[in-house]
Amino acid sequence: MQRWIVAIDGPAGAGKSTVARLLADRLGYVYLDSGAMYRCVALLALRSGTEPEESTALAEAAQITFDPAGIGEPQRVLLGGEDVSQAIRTPEVSQMASKVAAVPRVRKALVKLQQALGAQGGVVMEGRDIGTVVFPQAELKIFLTASPEERARRRHAELEARGEVFDYARVLAELKERDERDETREASPLRAAPDALTFLTDGRTIEQIVVELAGKVEA
Ligand code: C5P
Repeated sequence: MQRWIVAIDGPAGAGKSTVARLLADRLGYVYLDSGAMYRCVALLALRSGTEPEESTALAEAAQITFDPAGIGEPQRVLLGGEDVSQAIRTPEVSQMASKVAAVPRVRKALVKLQQALGAQGGVVMEGRDIGTVVFPQAELKIFLTASPEERARRRHAELEARGEVFDYARVLAELKERDERDETREASPLRAAPDALTFLTDGRTIEQIVVELAGKVEA
């Protein structure tokens, strides 16, 4: 049986992580979160007081692993062996991640790692440039999006569920700022691949989308 590469791209809060994880479980594929890698480099930069433009060496030396790297279990993100799964999810790291992600040599180092991890197929990889740059040959490319307000509502709820209190207006403003940076940067800007299927997730359940996508792979 052929094992596909499924690329899922889109802006922050579009539901990519949940869709990608559930789809990978359903297909018996490995789930890979490329954004977590940019977040790891951002965390290293914040901890060491490094400017985003100077973070290439951090990206090239970063020891980023996913544990387990296999199928169906919740994944932890390890940075040099330290579990940073929670530490990389703060709003500060989100903003810094989109700054380090605009640096071409940082992208080069992380894209290489992503290509090595997905080369065998049987993966669902989510990010911003998976269908355009990392795996332009992916058998299925999805662009997931939703209105900024819907995406900010989801992010706000996620933060609240973790016991973190943030003003909805701040979450919306930061999300728009990050989208703007991701869409307008010169290196691999966020955009749908010409052959990607675009899904608007406003008002649709994640389950509906996962079932529809799984049908495309199983078909
Ligand atoms: O997906 P997530 O929100 O965790 O990604 C954090 C940041 O990493 C994004 O705002 C984006 O700037 C960057 N990123 C990227 N390319 C990817 C994945 C994430 O530029 N493939």
